[in-house]
Amino acid sequence: MEQLADQSATDLYAAFVARDRRFDGHVFAAVTSTGIYCRFSCPARKPLSKNVRFLDSAAACRAEGFRACKRCTPDA
Ligand SMILES: [Zn+2]
Repeated sequence: MEQLADQSATDLYAAFVARDRRFDGHVFAAVTSTGIYCRFSCPARKPLSKNVRFLDSAAACRAEGFRACKRCTPDA
């Protein structure tokens, strides 16, 4: 597991909810309730913080069994 430790999950979640594009490509949000991972700028409704894990690559998300979101195409 490659959960990010250098920035608190609370800060990351705030940036995710704010759709902060600066995180795109650097951090990915993997949603445990849907099995999908997203860019921070994804236009989809944001999940509850308890259902989100932050991983540092799309490959890490796939390795954990998550699928790429069709709306924000985090692999592109
Ligand atoms: Zn998305």
